[in-house]
Amino acid sequence: MVQEIIPVKLKMTNCFLIRGNSGFLLVDAGPPKSSDLFRQALLGLSIDPADIKMIFLTHGHWDHWGSLRDIKDLTAAPAAINHREKEWVEKGENHLPGGIGTWGKIVVGLMKAMPIKSQLTATGIDIALNDEDLSMETYGIKGRLIHTPGHTDGSMSLLLDSGEAFVGDLAMSGFPRLGGPGPFVVGKDINTMKDSWQILLDAGARVIYPSHGKPFNAEVFDKYC
Ligand SMILES: [Zn+2]
Repeated sequence: MVQEIIPVKLKMTNCFLIRGNSGFLLVDAGPPKSSDLFRQALLGLSIDPADIKMIFLTHGHWDHWGSLRDIKDLTAAPAAINHREKEWVEKGENHLPGGIGTWGKIVVGLMKAMPIKSQLTATGIDIALNDEDLSMETYGIKGRLIHTPGHTDGSMSLLLDSGEAFVGDLAMSGFPRLGGPGPFVVGKDINTMKDSWQILLDAGARVIYPSHGKPFNAEVFDKYC
C-alpha cells in the first residue's frame, strides 16, 4: 500500500509528512523562523500537531533543523538525527559543506556570507541514530532509515517500502543546482554520495524526494553510479 506523502515547503526546504498507522512522521524541520509556516500548513491540512509522532532530520545543516525548537514545542514529538551530527543541533552549530566544482564553491561562498549562526537555537535531540538500517514500524510507517553519507558523514534517508526515498541533500533537482536532477552542488564527498545512491537503488528506491527541487525518478542515479 502506498502511504500518504504530504509535502510541506518551509521557505527553501522541502519537508514531508508521512502518514502512518498511528500518526505522522515529519522529515526535516526547515530553516530558522519557519515554524509559523508549519503551523499554518497543519491548520490547512486539519492535522493535529500532537499526531506528529517523530521528527526525522536527514542531516545537521541549518536549513533542515533551524525551526526544530519551535516545532518540537508545537508537536511534543521526539527528534532523531544520526549520532555524528547530534551535537551540531544541540550546540546550535552552523557546519557548512565544501563546494563541488566551481559553482558549488560559489554557492558555499554565498552561504558563508549569510548571517545564519545568529538565527540558530540549540535544540535537544532525543534519538541519536546509528548507521544500521532502522525500521519505522514502531511509528506505523512501512519503511526504514538508511545511512546514506556523502553530502555529510551523518546523512540519512527514509526509504518507504513502496519505493519513495526522502534523501535530504544527497541529491537535488532545483536551485542552486543548474540543469536537471543530480548530485547536490555542495557536499563532503561526491564519490561517497554516488555509493549512497547505489545503496538506495539496491534497496528498491524508485522515486527520489530531495529537500531542494521536485521529486524525480531514481533511474537518474543510474547515469552517475
Ligand atoms: Zn545540507
